[in-house]
Amino acid sequence: MIEVTKVSKKYGEFSALRDVDWSIREGEWWGIIGPNGSGKSTLLQLISGVDKVSSGELMIQGRHVSDYSRRELSQMLAVLQQDGLPAIHYPVRDIIEMGRYPFQDWLGRDRGNNSATIIDDIMSRLQLIDLSDRPLDELSGGQRQRVALGKVMAQEPRILLLDEPTTYLDIYYQLQFMEMVSTWRKETGITVIAVLHDLNLAAQFCDKLLVLQEGEVVGIGTPEEMLTKDNIRRVYEVDPAVVQHPVSGVPQILLSRY
Ligand code: ADP
Ligand code: MG
Repeated sequence: MIEVTKVSKKYGEFSALRDVDWSIREGEWWGIIGPNGSGKSTLLQLISGVDKVSSGELMIQGRHVSDYSRRELSQMLAVLQQDGLPAIHYPVRDIIEMGRYPFQDWLGRDRGNNSATIIDDIMSRLQLIDLSDRPLDELSGGQRQRVALGKVMAQEPRILLLDEPTTYLDIYYQLQFMEMVSTWRKETGITVIAVLHDLNLAAQFCDKLLVLQEGEVVGIGTPEEMLTKDNIRRVYEVDPAVVQHPVSGVPQILLSRY
């Protein structure tokens, strides 16, 4: 459903991405991993249409990303950043309703006819009912990121792009956030592409990983194939121990001191 062919991105003389080839099928959960500055966010911005490729082709459902209108793109894909929502003084339910903007006409009427039901459903799934009238600036970071997820769910996208969505969360909320995305994906079959800097979470949730290093793809495969001691040493320049998770069996990285 997403075809990335020989995509490069330059900022002036600097190459942020070089000849990226990547193919994503509907319903897959991909992780993008790689060191700081390797081009992960740049790649997400190209897919979301926020930025344009310098060369190569980026197609979503058989059409060039640049051929979609803003509105078409926002009905098809949603993006959630590290700090998904600013701490503004605005009630939770109103924020989630803002996710419906792509479906509203110029008078603000929702063209999806069951908008209220969609919002109610999201509020209850994300355990936000009790927070419904609370202003965003009075919530914890973990609660706020859950509201951010609710807002993108209200958008009913087919593709969800996450850029280090759990960075500021403690381990409870990291896991809760990822489980909520996982449940949503199972129920709706959406495609998820997540930049994750936590390799252990990536191994637990992603079907496949794209590994970037200095703007180039240096690996594509399952977490088992990608998260090997050698790969991590080469890409991140650390010398970790890689063990099997005692419950799920997926690879988990333990850092070793020099
Ligand atoms: P990552 O998300 O993997 O940390 P980025 O995609 O944000 O990396 O950035 C990749 C490289 O491109 C970095 O060296 C960064 O400085 C550079 N870069 C990103 N955006 C811009 C921009 N708008 N102008 C110039 N350079 C940029
Ligand atoms: Mg980034």
